[in-house]
Amino acid sequence: MKYISTRGDRTERGFSDILLEGLAPDGGLYLPVQYPKVDAATLAKWRGLSYHELAFEILSLYIDDIPAADLKTIVAKTYTPEVFGTREITPLKSLEAGMQLEALSNGPTLAFKDMAMQLLGNLFEYELGRRGESLNILGATSGDTGSAAEYAMRGKKGVKVFMLSPHGRMSAFQQAQMFSLQDANIHNIAIEGVFDDCQDIVKAVSNDLEFKRRHKIGTVNSINWARLLAQVVYYFAGYFQATKAPVDTSSELPVVSFAVPSGNFGNICAGHVARSMGLPIKRLVLATNENDVLDEFFRTGTYRVRGSTETHETSSPSMDISKASNFERFVFDLLGRDGARTKQLFKTDVEDHGSFTVSADEFRRIANYGFASGRSTHADRLATIRDTWQRFSVMIDTHTADGLKVAREHLESGVPMIVLETALPAKFAETIVEALGREPDRPEAMRGIEQLPKRFKVMRVDAQAVKGFIAENA
Ligand SMILES: *Cc1c(COP(=O)(O)O)cnc(C)c1O
Repeated sequence: MKYISTRGDRTERGFSDILLEGLAPDGGLYLPVQYPKVDAATLAKWRGLSYHELAFEILSLYIDDIPAADLKTIVAKTYTPEVFGTREITPLKSLEAGMQLEALSNGPTLAFKDMAMQLLGNLFEYELGRRGESLNILGATSGDTGSAAEYAMRGKKGVKVFMLSPHGRMSAFQQAQMFSLQDANIHNIAIEGVFDDCQDIVKAVSNDLEFKRRHKIGTVNSINWARLLAQVVYYFAGYFQATKAPVDTSSELPVVSFAVPSGNFGNICAGHVARSMGLPIKRLVLATNENDVLDEFFRTGTYRVRGSTETHETSSPSMDISKASNFERFVFDLLGRDGARTKQLFKTDVEDHGSFTVSADEFRRIANYGFASGRSTHADRLATIRDTWQRFSVMIDTHTADGLKVAREHLESGVPMIVLETALPAKFAETIVEALGREPDRPEAMRGIEQLPKRFKVMRVDAQAVKGFIAENA
């Protein structure tokens, strides 16, 4: 399988060429030249597979420059019950009739980002080892991504992580999760500023191309294709758990819908890829919180990015985004893979005017892709968490609550709805207490982590000083 850019550069690159990269050189995102199709016979064959076997089958359709035996080993050591807590890896939990949760957050950092990041850690170690190279990952985090990256890269050969976070602004739990790591290849830098200051420093360092090359600086952000690909697997795994095998090959395939708490459009974009491969998904229901950039697009056809003053701090913080970094991938497909037009919309129109509107004809075509959308507020989250706890004794986190609230608005009879559970309530204790008047349960391994010794470096908002620290420790 070869990969091209969404902005018109049709140079074909292999999987391992794009694995360690972020954006394509023309500023676009990488996508496969086409989506491999799976038919009913393939689905029947895959139905009985374990999670890691299924992951191998799907990944090998997209990766032909890693020997099959090696890929099999990498996937098998990634998706284990020891790391993800259950044999199914992403088990379903039933709520009201037709409604199920798919657990994606039983990995080491209790959020769905582990599903992809754990694989990325193993792929990076393999690829760097094969090339005899090393990589220094630089990132900024306000919580979930940074910890998922650190737990995926800890102890990996050839990889070091430099993660900036706003000093004293993460929850005690999030700080403990990250700062308690004692691995020599993990460097936590607490910046005396806000999250935007951290991001600005990352940008400043990355824009110094000479420094970037000399110190082999890389990233693991959500636009990485391998992360998206890893996420495709659990759409298939959820489908197989929610449906029964058709009685014979001539009977119609059962369909399901998915509801996805969304921010950067990475998670639901994997659903779009799964559906494009032929997985019988009826609806992809996109849920936002008060930061409803994407809901607005699917309702109106206008994509309008927001400034930081228009970006609300909510109780589902991992969805507090002002522009959705993976959205360009879907729009490229919607526009019939017209790279020039995609570039016009995302480079010229968004950069110059902060928005674009698709044509009436393009807007109508969105229906062919199965998307529906809705939004949820803090009051909705509290009500949904309370209601789900009272009726089913199931405790959900604030992001999953956004997904479930919107899922209920789109439930159709005869079509199972699978809500992706993107984090565990233990990560967002404050809102759980507000909703339920009690603390959320914590997985055994996370009890008392606030008391563990912490290892981190405090630094001023000073890109030069951060560069110095990297140069010293890389
Ligand atoms: C990252 C994240 C999301 C949003 O996922 P996207 O891929 O950015 O759409 C939702 N919920 C949680 C808990 C997350 O960490």
